[in-house]
Amino acid sequence: MSSHFRTLDDLSDISGKTALVRVDLNLPMQDGLVTDDTRVRASAPTILELADKGAKVLLLAHFGRPKGDRVSTMSLSLVVGAVERVLGKEVMFVPEIAGPVAAQAIGILRPGDIAILENTRFWKGEEKNDPDLVKAVAAIGDFYVNDAFSAAHRAHATTEGLAHALPAYAGRSMQAELEALDKALGSPVKPVAALVGGAKVSSKLDVLKHLVTQVDHLIIGGGMANTFLAAKGVDVGKSLCEHDLTGTANEILTAADASGCTVHLPYEVVVSKEFAANPASLRTCNVHEVAADEMILDVGPAAVEGLADVLKCCRTLVWNGPMGAFEMEPFDAATVALAKTAAALTQEGSLISVAGGGDTVAALNHAGVVQDFSYISTAGGAFLEWMEGRELPGVAALSS
Ligand code: ADP
Ligand code: MG
Repeated sequence: MSSHFRTLDDLSDISGKTALVRVDLNLPMQDGLVTDDTRVRASAPTILELADKGAKVLLLAHFGRPKGDRVSTMSLSLVVGAVERVLGKEVMFVPEIAGPVAAQAIGILRPGDIAILENTRFWKGEEKNDPDLVKAVAAIGDFYVNDAFSAAHRAHATTEGLAHALPAYAGRSMQAELEALDKALGSPVKPVAALVGGAKVSSKLDVLKHLVTQVDHLIIGGGMANTFLAAKGVDVGKSLCEHDLTGTANEILTAADASGCTVHLPYEVVVSKEFAANPASLRTCNVHEVAADEMILDVGPAAVEGLADVLKCCRTLVWNGPMGAFEMEPFDAATVALAKTAAALTQEGSLISVAGGGDTVAALNHAGVVQDFSYISTAGGAFLEWMEGRELPGVAALSS
């Protein structure tokens, strides 16, 4: 992914101009209250920088899946208070994204004022990237800033279309994400290791296929390692395993060989007869000693040490997916140990570490290393599509 895109540094005098800023306000809510404002905090620097420079800042975002209808429980008016608290400023709410009502409301704004426009998905044209909607929204702004990497894998009106209709710039959070991802897989310092774990091979086939052509070391853990082990003739007992995908697993191993990518599969595992915390049947064994009634739930400690040595030889790490069933102790051990190794190497300056994925972020939080990685992406779907080597439409539109 090349990183030729304009940023806020390329904006000259914007005082009095109107900025249309795509952000991620798809905030988790419970009983009408925002429970986590991480996404607001991510875009706060962009919003405040534009406001400080005297722009009128209009925030565009989607919220939930209203599918083109006005659904009152999904109105962005519900997040205004949370956004105000993060920004420390008053924020106006505009119940439209285009048209005379929007124009009139925006007319009241002074330079430096901030407004949230209504949920973009209340309009059917948003997800269809409808040119008429793009035109109507573009008409109320002077330039467009995209600060929502998490929505960049969708070619929607406010994530992609607007970038062609107005001068377009990456916001600070988008910029940081693209620069981190470029360091991880775009133009990384070698050797590069990828660590892929999680439940199933089927959910990450394209990720694995792409990575074997890009990295020097592919470490496979989690449930998906079982499918690879089975492909190599290992009896994995009752483990989570996609037996119908062993052929595909072998193809991936062959492709890795052809690309000079070394694949590391666990040779030692932590097993148990039941999926419970600290079960009586817990034991550590060689992969060839798993009994028919046992499940592999984590990578064993000796194998983890070997994997830590691999990380020590590498300069770049990209990580998606936990190494074991980390939600239950002690099956978090391999994930936590490798996370700590990667964090320490990053702090020593010998490793650039980039991680992403819903459960991965939770696991790294659990390991207490989030501050010590070079970059952790909370983008979910967009992060995975990037790991598949796909061009994200929202990013491509900023580059053209
Ligand atoms: P992410 O959300 O970071 O992309 P995934 O959703 O692919 O990650 O995988 C996370 C899930 O994988 C977790 O719920 C974890 O319990 C599960 N998992 C990891 N290792 C195993 C295993 N050996 N057996 C069963 N499930 C596992
Ligand atoms: Mg997940």
